[in-house]
Amino acid sequence: MDTVTVQQYNLDEEQEKKEIVRHYRALLRALKPRLKKGDRELVRTAFEMAADAHIDMRRKSGEPYIFHPLAVAQICVEEIGLGVRSAICALLHDTVEDTEVTLEDVEREFGNEIAHIVDGLTKISIVVDSNTSTTQAENFKKILLTLADDPRVILIKLADRLHNMRTLDSMSREKQLKIASETVFIYAPLAHRLGLYNIKSELEDLAMKYTEQDKYREIARKLKETKRGRTTYINEFIKPIKEVLQEEGFNFEIYGRPKSIHSIWNKIKTKGVQFEEVYDLFAIRIILDSPIDKEKAECWKVYSIITDFYHPSPERTRDWLSNPKSNGYEALHVTVMGPQGKWVEVQIRTKRMNDYAEKGVAAHWRYKEGNQTVQESKFDQWFTSIREILNNPDSNTLDFLADFKSNLFTEEIYVYTPKGDLKILPVNATALDFAYSIHSAIGNKCIGAKVNYKLVPLSHKLRSGDQVEIITSNKQRPSEDWLNFVLTAKAKSKIKDALKEEKRKIAMDGKAAFERKMDHLGVSLSQHNINEVIQFYKQPSPLDLYYQVAVKNIDLKELKQFQVLGDKLEAPKPVKVPEVVVPEEKVKETNKKDAELIIFGESSDKIAYRLANCCRPIPGDDVFGFITASEGLKIHRTNCPNAAQLLANYGHRVVKTKWVKNREISFLTGLRIVGMDDVGVIHKITNIISGELKINIAALTIESKEGLFEGLIKVFVHDKEELEVLLDRLKTLEGIQSISRLED
Ligand code: MN
Repeated sequence: MDTVTVQQYNLDEEQEKKEIVRHYRALLRALKPRLKKGDRELVRTAFEMAADAHIDMRRKSGEPYIFHPLAVAQICVEEIGLGVRSAICALLHDTVEDTEVTLEDVEREFGNEIAHIVDGLTKISIVVDSNTSTTQAENFKKILLTLADDPRVILIKLADRLHNMRTLDSMSREKQLKIASETVFIYAPLAHRLGLYNIKSELEDLAMKYTEQDKYREIARKLKETKRGRTTYINEFIKPIKEVLQEEGFNFEIYGRPKSIHSIWNKIKTKGVQFEEVYDLFAIRIILDSPIDKEKAECWKVYSIITDFYHPSPERTRDWLSNPKSNGYEALHVTVMGPQGKWVEVQIRTKRMNDYAEKGVAAHWRYKEGNQTVQESKFDQWFTSIREILNNPDSNTLDFLADFKSNLFTEEIYVYTPKGDLKILPVNATALDFAYSIHSAIGNKCIGAKVNYKLVPLSHKLRSGDQVEIITSNKQRPSEDWLNFVLTAKAKSKIKDALKEEKRKIAMDGKAAFERKMDHLGVSLSQHNINEVIQFYKQPSPLDLYYQVAVKNIDLKELKQFQVLGDKLEAPKPVKVPEVVVPEEKVKETNKKDAELIIFGESSDKIAYRLANCCRPIPGDDVFGFITASEGLKIHRTNCPNAAQLLANYGHRVVKTKWVKNREISFLTGLRIVGMDDVGVIHKITNIISGELKINIAALTIESKEGLFEGLIKVFVHDKEELEVLLDRLKTLEGIQSISRLED
């Protein structure tokens, strides 16, 4: 089934013309039941316009380009169920971008509606196909934007992509991979959401054929090898049901349908099983020809007949008759125990539902015209919610995409308002999601809910069938942690909006304080001056600065150190902190000199020694000397972590030692400071060390996380006294939590 035959294209001009006409006629045939007066001429004009425009272009396979728009139009009509206007748009979909034809030409010839759709298709094409610098996530968002504009744009684009995927063989390997991955990432999920199950499966299978060639071939081969056995089984399973259905006078079709290669592969991966262990390689489908008012009753009657023969698994019965999925899918699914103890899924639906399942949104419109009661507003609701989210200019694309996609495939639950209105939410949605699904104002004020008359918290997970009443309070404000327990994209984006608004309000106080300070300094609120302050405090925006001032993370005290030149404010130059640790040589030198500073017993001038690395003693510390086996004499602090052990076990090797004062030589020591993460904190610390106390800094690293910072500072001090002064002085800094000398 997947033998790749790259057909050599070798038609002469005459044959080519015939072939084009043949395709065109096939399109007209497919459109025939829908052609109204004047439509045939319009389709012809579109075909001629496209054929003319693409006359000199060929596809990678060598065939004339017009084959592609013709095929896309055919898919739109036959596989998606779109009508005349969409077919015209499909014929023209590549003209404006790739040929001399302009949008004005299209509008003049076919009017506003068609020009608008062709414009949408051109824009998607420019965004997605030719721009390599944007991410797929960005693309996805842009595609959804056009979808919110007119869903036909996206349906035609899906047809375009499907045809490109079907003819991907002639592309380079690199292109194949790019297009295939994009298909899985963007187009298959969209097809799913729009209820186009067949197209979704085909896109996934085609993509897998290129991205996971080996697996694809292996599963295809195994499916082929097991086909005979499967057919026998299916016939055995179907036989008794078929007989009764006929006796009962049903008009129906019944058949077994293999699952897609991609979905089998998914099962193998997610369940960690072998191909042979995947029990549902196929499903049985029963399609009834029922009048619309008897649909539900007849589906349940069939259910009853099936379960007369085979035992159903109650947990695996899905009633999408009473509550269709939000993408419009309607059917009754039941899994029963078939012959040989195998579970078999049976899908029962009517012809109308089947059309719906295969052609999705387009079929929806068609039936909507005939019967106003069917599934009227589901899609409209969905489009509205997409539009709402997309219209928020601040929404982060990646967040949005993650939310959106997680909502795409999840199962749904059905919950009710106190008045009995139905709401569809993803599985694991909480009371707060429900509140936001009613209205963002209700969500923002939500303090809890009553689920089936019992009081529950905001984070309570809802279940199908729950009746939910939201309790609100005017004092309520959305908070950051709400984001941890909402699931729906709508709730998330509304909470983020509210938080931002809240921040904006708080920031107003900070802004007033800031303006007073500036006024005090006698400088204006010019762009330059504001920038100078923002940069000094390392804030990303004025809003952030005002907010930090308002919540007292920044006190603006440092503004006093700014220079005022006329109306211009200038931030003090940051203290230069050498980034490199003391060069090796300098350390050695220090070590050599300090030999003169230490006294063992009476005179120790001649004794070579080293300062222990474990505790790095400095003059003034209580120290002892220790004679090592291989490295001579080492000086440790008496409170060194190793001291107790050395003193206890090797008392005979210990030498009494004391310091002699010498202010000319400095010793390297380390400090550890922990405190509140505050802009300007480095500035404040370095200011004390090198500015006030004139102590040299050898190295400094600051790490901050979760509102705290930890700083490691290496300084040169003369003795312990000086170090203590430094520690005391640093302790007076606001927000310092702990400060200690490094023991190692
Ligand atoms: Mn195209």
